[in-house]
Amino acid sequence: MSNPGGVRRWLVSLAVCAGVLTGCETSTDAGEDPAPATPSATPSATPSATPSPQASSPGPPTRDETASPSPVPRADRAPAVPARFRRDRAMATIRWLAGEVGPREGSSAAFRRAARRVARRFSGLGYDVRRQSFAVPEGNSWGVPVPAGRSTNVIATPEGFRSGRPHLLVGAHLDTVPQAPGAEDNASGVAVLLELARLAASDGTRLPVVFVAFGAEEPRGDGDALHHFGSTAYVNRMSPRERRGLQAMVSLDRVGVGTVVPVCTGGLSPLRVRAMLVRGAGEIDVPVSTCSDNASSDHWSFEKAGEPVARIGSTPYAGYHSAQDVPAVVNPAQLGRVGRVMWDWMTR
Ligand SMILES: [Zn+2]
Repeated sequence: MSNPGGVRRWLVSLAVCAGVLTGCETSTDAGEDPAPATPSATPSATPSATPSPQASSPGPPTRDETASPSPVPRADRAPAVPARFRRDRAMATIRWLAGEVGPREGSSAAFRRAARRVARRFSGLGYDVRRQSFAVPEGNSWGVPVPAGRSTNVIATPEGFRSGRPHLLVGAHLDTVPQAPGAEDNASGVAVLLELARLAASDGTRLPVVFVAFGAEEPRGDGDALHHFGSTAYVNRMSPRERRGLQAMVSLDRVGVGTVVPVCTGGLSPLRVRAMLVRGAGEIDVPVSTCSDNASSDHWSFEKAGEPVARIGSTPYAGYHSAQDVPAVVNPAQLGRVGRVMWDWMTR
């Protein structure tokens, strides 16, 4: 109701796909490498979308911030046939992260490999990408000793982004506990994050969106100070102006299990982000559950700093933080539900 344009885009998308994403699945995921080989704009990143002007010319060299005060892709740039969330692409990302890279504790070489690849994915979609390095202490992560070291946030911003202007932030942690390949926790969140970034680069969003793959979310000991290191570093380095610009933060963490989408806060945030997500989900017939006692993901770092947040995901599952957290535990249909809810929210 509040966004006829966004609803219309979805209706067009659904009509094109002949039903709630089911008809959108293609056979392109078999053996597909989800990452482009080079940082240049890649046709394979948007095979289903009619290229938009900024998707086809993502390079930053000609950027003129003075002449481009509104960097966000605008609705009037939206292609006639909108891009759509691709569950097969999301699953390919999960198979790569959990099947090929495997366990990726936040200070490990495997994590750095994953971070490089995610950075290339963002670059290939036309985003400006920067890395934010931070220290992590030695400790014990879910029963396994971990050394002191450094981890990294991978941050993607749209061309011409100005952090003091109103914007949204969507994040997902890229690391795992040492013993888990982390298909659901949290390759699922990263996979949806990358798909949303692809859609945003193609079709545009209501506000500019910053996409962050956070490092070192997983615990290195007990207590609030020994987890969520990446999001804590991000929040601590935000300027007052940037904080004023941030309108909402959503953490995607464990988003591929179950049939109902959990939408939560930690109990400090105003409920407007959660309410908007829930309302939008209702309008596109995605079942949700809500809670206000979930402090176990990166949204909590932002929430403690006074930012309006929500966390999507957290349905319990048998393979949690174990070697059994493999791609088979992830339900592609649930990724699609989360993708639709998030895209509706980002464009509403
Ligand atoms: Zn997680």
